[in-house]
Amino acid sequence: MKVHAPETLEQACAVLAQHAGALVPMAGATDLLVHWPGKQRDHDRAYLDLSGVAELRPLAWTDDSLKLGALTTYWDVLRDPQTARQFPMLIEAARQVGAVQIQTRGTWAGNIANGSPAADGVPVLMALDASVTLASTTGTRTVALADYYTGYRASVRRPEELIVSIEIPKRAYDITAFYKVGPRRAQAITKVGVAIAHASHAGGGGWRIVANSVAPTVCRCRSVESLLDEVGGKPFTAPDGFLTALRADVAPIDDIRSTAEYRLTVLARLLYHGLKGRTPSVA
Ligand SMILES: Cc1cc2nc3c(=O)[nH]c(=O)nc-3n(C[C@H](O)[C@H](O)[C@H](O)COP(=O)(O)OP(=O)(O)OC[C@H]3O[C@@H](n4cnc5c(N)ncnc54)[C@H](O)[C@@H]3O)c2cc1C
Repeated sequence: MKVHAPETLEQACAVLAQHAGALVPMAGATDLLVHWPGKQRDHDRAYLDLSGVAELRPLAWTDDSLKLGALTTYWDVLRDPQTARQFPMLIEAARQVGAVQIQTRGTWAGNIANGSPAADGVPVLMALDASVTLASTTGTRTVALADYYTGYRASVRRPEELIVSIEIPKRAYDITAFYKVGPRRAQAITKVGVAIAHASHAGGGGWRIVANSVAPTVCRCRSVESLLDEVGGKPFTAPDGFLTALRADVAPIDDIRSTAEYRLTVLARLLYHGLKGRTPSVA
């Protein structure tokens, strides 16, 4: 099997452009390893190992945001005290991914690029209004993570583009929570999960409710968000139309991990108990 090992982003983009779509980018390889070539003919695939590209590694703070490089791992985030203060929900999600071995290798960018509807990093990043920067030999562009997916395991990323960073704007959050339901506490693929965030409306806040494992992609529950925005600054009691709105937002399926009915019921309960009695600040 062929593995390209660039040392700079420029080299990485050049190799990717040269092999137009035939190269598989590789970060921590924790997702790729699960599907590692099992048959001789699969070894025709070529990989682009990003691990030597130092400029993709750092986690960096600016006055307005947190920037995760494409090689930033869950462990990098868990070890950063400022993230614990500013974005406790990121820490909560990082702790719930796999177990320590996966947390030290797996990257947030890999979690996004893999495109699984069950991804645990994505709902939290989406609830925090993260954006994704993509680079190729022709330049860079930034897209909101909420607009990144176009369907099941499909995204706006072109084959010659790499995710180079993820940016999370700083906001004054008064409510954040992340819930994951799986068959056991560690090394569990999510049956249903949800990230909840509320920031005051000044500077683009409001409610963000983002669910995983209940639709072909991780999805924002925009009908529920609108309903909660309408209720305003009152303590939460399930408003009229809450279940109807939730049903409109998600499309759970029956599969080997759960039934659609179980997923919808549990998601409603997670939201109800997560929000019960909470009063969002509308200042
Ligand atoms: C035992 C085990 C437990 C797990 N538990 C969980 C869990 O609880 N929750 C969860 O969400 N996930 C879990 N995972 C899945 C996986 O660990 C995560 O999705 C992880 O974040 C993937 O990151 P990675 O760096 O290893 O990606 P890789 O495996 O290197 O890549 C994943 C995909 O992203 C692409 N890619 C990677 N980096 C880039 C880039 N910069 N630009 C473009 N494309 C890129 C690759 O081509 C590939 O398609 C688990 C995996 C295993 C093996």
